[in-house]
Amino acid sequence: MQKGSIGVTTENIFPIIKKFLYSDHEIFLRELIANAVDAVQKLKTVASNGEFNGELGDLTIRVSLEKDKLTISDRGVGMTAEEVDKYLNQIAFSSADEFIKKYKNQSIIGHFGLGFYSAFMVSKKVEVVTLSYTEGAKAVRWSCDGSPEYTLEETEKASRGTDIILHIDDDSKEFLEEARINELLRKYCRYLPVEIAFGKEKEWKDGKQTDTDKDHIINEVNPAWTRKPADMKDEDYMAFYSDLYPMQEPPMFYIHLNVDYPFHLTGILYFPKIKSNIEFRKNRIQLYCNQVFVTDSVEGIVPDFLTLLHGVLDSPDIPLNVSRSYLQSDSGVKKISGHITKKVADRLEEIFKKDRTEFEQKWDNLKLFIEYGVVTDEKFAERADKFLLYKNTDNKYFTFEEYEKIIKSEQTDRDKKTVILYTTDIDAQYTFIEAAKAKGYDVLNLDGQLDIHFINHLESKKGDFRFARVDADVIDNLIRKDDELPTTLPQEQQNDLRDLLEDLLPRNSGHFFVTCQNTGEQAVPMLITQSEFMRRMKDMSAMGGENMGFYGAMPDSYNLVINADHALVKKLISEKDADIGEELKKLDNELTPVESELKSFNESLKDKKEEEIEQAQKDRRSELQQQEDAIRNCRKEALKAYGKQHSLPKQLVDLALLANNMLKGEDLNKFIHRSVEMIE
Ligand code: ADP
Repeated sequence: MQKGSIGVTTENIFPIIKKFLYSDHEIFLRELIANAVDAVQKLKTVASNGEFNGELGDLTIRVSLEKDKLTISDRGVGMTAEEVDKYLNQIAFSSADEFIKKYKNQSIIGHFGLGFYSAFMVSKKVEVVTLSYTEGAKAVRWSCDGSPEYTLEETEKASRGTDIILHIDDDSKEFLEEARINELLRKYCRYLPVEIAFGKEKEWKDGKQTDTDKDHIINEVNPAWTRKPADMKDEDYMAFYSDLYPMQEPPMFYIHLNVDYPFHLTGILYFPKIKSNIEFRKNRIQLYCNQVFVTDSVEGIVPDFLTLLHGVLDSPDIPLNVSRSYLQSDSGVKKISGHITKKVADRLEEIFKKDRTEFEQKWDNLKLFIEYGVVTDEKFAERADKFLLYKNTDNKYFTFEEYEKIIKSEQTDRDKKTVILYTTDIDAQYTFIEAAKAKGYDVLNLDGQLDIHFINHLESKKGDFRFARVDADVIDNLIRKDDELPTTLPQEQQNDLRDLLEDLLPRNSGHFFVTCQNTGEQAVPMLITQSEFMRRMKDMSAMGGENMGFYGAMPDSYNLVINADHALVKKLISEKDADIGEELKKLDNELTPVESELKSFNESLKDKKEEEIEQAQKDRRSELQQQEDAIRNCRKEALKAYGKQHSLPKQLVDLALLANNMLKGEDLNKFIHRSVEMIE
């Protein structure tokens, strides 16, 4: 019997391994089974090139539980005493130090490739009983209880291969539970290329579940992605999807990836119906390395927007023993991720070209994904131009090129910018959409979660275009064709209306600017708009854009646009004139001399510095100023009082608020009562 001490610098390496790997003990099973799979595949290789002529026999890998032991048995190449010495003693333990160093930085993705010594995370003692396939080989038993001491001795073993016997530690008892092992096998080993048996198939007999004598094979050795695309039917892809994500709605499309050069990559990606970002991360893409599950977090390995897809990627060429931050700068990973992006774009273009109707039907569920890609991935954006669709309020779909042709002649303004009108809510912005349509314009429906970002992105890319939400202004202002937009209303009347309405506008909803414009007899009498710029900034800030807090804190500001063409506005003005016109004229008559005196007084003092002005003059000036203010104030109060006493102005303002869904609570209630009275 050989006894020895394992060449490590640390006195007792295993407690340290345990500590560092605390959160992820479970991966030991994957690591040991992956070794067993390797051993079986090596045997197949030596058999196929004639170095081994014996019977291959049953190559199933068996996992079994027995009191405090978990055993993994394979019928692979096995190891000779020299190999055990070389692989388990020298290589494994001399690199244990290195392993810990790596592990400290939490850098190994999916904690993949930790190898044999991960067995010590869950065991108080590990035994390896192995018989090499080579002729005349003797079976050996290696045993180590976690101290840096091991024993190696000859033993009896009936069949070729290796048994790894784990004496499970007291604090890892969970790994002696059948259900837990089943769960782990399902998570990590489900698609391994060699059959793995754990227990027996069960059946119901006499009201009880009993074992049959058939092995319970936990894995699928030829999972869909390893098969040739030519051999696969649609049903096969869909069946694999529901195997990966049981009980989920079927995906819309899939892509089978199969690359040999300059890197190896296989996989199947599915396009799920993406409706909101809540579902985004529930079903994740699974990353495999030669059919061994590594992780379901592929961030850093594929572009962010692709993580919205579902499915499987398998590549032995993705470096998994580095940190994620390093991954992004790795040129190999960049190539792989670039390739996947290209394939995804190609596939979308192909479907678009082949069956546009189908593509359009699925567009609403694809849109979020594609827009996310366009906004975050330059390369994808270039390609997506061909199949990215825009839907208008009549549910018609256009590519940008097609849409441009439709709107260019009508919707180009005097500055040669083509204005793309859009709505974010067809119901809420109905009045504005109708006004735009009445002008012969088209309105896009951009009600998606990412649309604000998307619009900003497009504007920065397409210089000749400007996006304007239909309620951002009066339609003639949104697409300005003439230099001046004259209003027939004299300035004095405009000022009067502003004062008259001042107390009728809601105080808590933000700031209102009152303006007058001629928008046509058919248009509404009053309209509330919100500037495109301010609204977008506030939307961005609400979405958590960087440095956007400033806009978020600003009060909302709106424009109340009075349509001077409308009969009711004309009526309002003439009634006001009839009612308080005399009174206002009287005040104006009082105001004129005060104003002109103040004006000439100020004129005379114009060239003097403040300290050169005599006190008497100063007194007179402020007296005049006060007189002027008082008259103006009086005038304003008269107008405000008029506004409050009469139903028409209040009714017109409320109607404008109502059209914007801004009339609520008590104000809405009052409006209803007032309306009823007016009908009576
Ligand atoms: P790795 O698998 O990354 O090489 P490990 O520490 O897991 O590192 O294993 C070291 C070596 O021990 C393997 O390369 C292999 O040669 C040998 N080995 C481990 N498990 C088995 C097994 N079940 N059958 C045959 N050889 C094995």
